[in-house]
Amino acid sequence: MIEVQSASRTFTMGATQVHALRGVNLKIEDGEFVAIMGPSGSGKSTLMYLLGALDKPNGGSIFHGDQDVATCNSNGLADLRGRRIGFVFQMFSLMPTLSALENVELPMVFQRMPHAKRRVRAAELLELVGMADRAKHLPKELSGGEQQRVAIARALANDPDLLLADEPTGNLDSETGLQIIELLRQLNLERGMTEILVTHDEALTKHVDRTIRLLDGCVSAKGKDEGEDGEQAPIAVASSDGQEANLSSGASASSPSCSSAGGAAHA
Ligand code: ADP
Ligand code: MG
Repeated sequence: MIEVQSASRTFTMGATQVHALRGVNLKIEDGEFVAIMGPSGSGKSTLMYLLGALDKPNGGSIFHGDQDVATCNSNGLADLRGRRIGFVFQMFSLMPTLSALENVELPMVFQRMPHAKRRVRAAELLELVGMADRAKHLPKELSGGEQQRVAIARALANDPDLLLADEPTGNLDSETGLQIIELLRQLNLERGMTEILVTHDEALTKHVDRTIRLLDGCVSAKGKDEGEDGEQAPIAVASSDGQEANLSSGASASSPSCSSAGGAAHA
């Protein structure tokens, strides 16, 4: 289980402090597929960085089982990232000069897996995401959806317990985006892998177990838990160019912590 307790993250920009997260509380059970939604700047990526042990909170705790990211040393963080967590990003961030197969192999190179073994495993993972016949292609020879499939295969290379995907469909058309979510859902069900997905697309949330909503660095009151969306949920509004309107009110930017109605409640 993952448990976030009163997690805050503040960035200092010259004389100003940006409170990206203001005391977030949530629990995610093993095997859950959870979506995180919220306006631009509401702290979604910051939360994903903390969940992924890529960053530490200024206050509070991020437990992976009994291990707290906030108190891990750099070896502990690297171990958590390398062995237990897979990442998928909006920009597929594949190495342009490596083939699909070599891209999937890369994390296993870092984990010092022998060459023959990692080659076999990379081929199996490409097969799993439906990309076996594209193994020798370079990223530029693949469509966006295909590149994201390769990126997902790469994220699975070290057999993570947790897959974090920050807007994995953000650069894809809606049909291709849906296929990627279906793939993530299939991996979640077949492998029992916990998955946390940031998305702007309300339509995709019907494929997940639960949606957590962030607003101004807090879990919004409606974001605690819901089988279905409440009408008061502060949702992102997509305009015709696909960009999200920022609904967060600047007025609350000075408030250092979440109100008890919002982020203090447990997910
Ligand atoms: P989201 O992913 O929901 O759009 P982010 O988590 O990226 O939001 O950002 C939350 C807030 O924190 C924003 O105001 C953003 O400008 C700020 N922020 C995020 N990362 C940094 C950083 N490294 N330095 C300074 N401010 C940051
Ligand atoms: Mg973001």
